[in-house]
Amino acid sequence: MSDFPQFEYRQNALYAEQVPLESIAKEFGTPCYVYSRNAITTTYNAFQQAFSDDDYLICYAVKANSNLAVLNLLAKLGSGFDIVSGGELQRVIKAGGDPKKTVFSGVGKLADEIRMALAADILCFNVESIAELQLLNQIAAAMNKMAPVSLRVNPDVDAKTHPYISTGLKENKFGIPIEEAEHIYRSTDIFPYIRFIGLDCHIGSQLTELDPFIQAGRKLVDLLHRLQSKKLRISHLDLGGGLGIRYSDEVIPSIQDYVSALRETLGPANLRLIIEPGRSLIGNAGLLLTKTAYIKHTPDRSFAIVDAAMNDLMRPSLYQAYHKILPVIKSEGDICNYQVVGPVCETGDYLGHDRKLVLKADDLLAVMSSGAYGMSMGSNYNTRPRAAEVMVDGETIHLIRARETIDQLIASETLLPM
Ligand SMILES: *Cc1c(COP(=O)(O)O)cnc(C)c1O
Repeated sequence: MSDFPQFEYRQNALYAEQVPLESIAKEFGTPCYVYSRNAITTTYNAFQQAFSDDDYLICYAVKANSNLAVLNLLAKLGSGFDIVSGGELQRVIKAGGDPKKTVFSGVGKLADEIRMALAADILCFNVESIAELQLLNQIAAAMNKMAPVSLRVNPDVDAKTHPYISTGLKENKFGIPIEEAEHIYRSTDIFPYIRFIGLDCHIGSQLTELDPFIQAGRKLVDLLHRLQSKKLRISHLDLGGGLGIRYSDEVIPSIQDYVSALRETLGPANLRLIIEPGRSLIGNAGLLLTKTAYIKHTPDRSFAIVDAAMNDLMRPSLYQAYHKILPVIKSEGDICNYQVVGPVCETGDYLGHDRKLVLKADDLLAVMSSGAYGMSMGSNYNTRPRAAEVMVDGETIHLIRARETIDQLIASETLLPM
């Protein structure tokens, strides 16, 4: 099957579901993120079907794409959420998501965020240090509430992914060393306002093999058995997110195989299994639509300077990530080797190197696989308003975030009095 069944050519024009991308550019301008509702729903259903009638909960990782319409769509499908800030919790609530299906991850939860999450009665805090556990216990005591907790353990397995998105090695800042976890779980007497309910890990992102998940799962199950033999009651295992997507020619395990591998590794544990997929749910459900502003030939290189930049899609600049770049209208002509770059004043500002394209000024391009860690990592660097976002649903286009205006950008700044 095509990687982008919802983004296909008809004759020479690239479509999102039933809508030509060219008409989206005309109506909403560029740069513009375009998502397919059908792609998100189909992928969510694939996860659901893979679990069949197990006790499971899918907690979509909000940081991958936190647009309210995306969260609302997933909430309607029954999804829970994995949040990493109080801001993300507010988004989940605003989008109609259920706090009781929400887990809170992150190494640096602040006191206000913890209070907000306790007040909202979230499902679980994925705690990453003893200091955090102490603070959580203290705040819960003051609010006279029990805080539900999983320790996020660091299983020390190599996710074999980009070092910036590998999180489960012992030198990473994430989690509690797995050898220390048992001791903490057994310290319930010094944390009277903590209820340990789960075990959690998240070893990295964009994993292309199942083996690291299996290794981490085994270590979690070992720990689970030790805790159960000490009469601790654990009601869920959370294996985090991390399943990769195909950006170029990677071979990625299917969702079915991934879920089967997790279920097999955990065995008949009579526990609820939680996963926190981000990228694999939304990555290939979105693209970034951009227009060529200039073609520039230097003695060395040919540049396509487009109206999207690293502030819109940071992944190439940050991780040297590869995104396919497709012409929105295929045309005949001379193929040239382009460096596709943005207008931002950084040499690191590029979307793709060495792309063979037939291109002239004003032509539209689609930067594929941009649904995850695209808009959500966007910034206003170079005082560039953030892009518009639309969701296509069949023949209908919904504007789900209007293009930012310069006035909005500078509204909270003030001049010195003199
Ligand atoms: C980012 C993150 C995820 C999602 O990772 P993906 O690779 O997008 O699936 C899940 N859990 C935690 C704790 C994360 O930080």
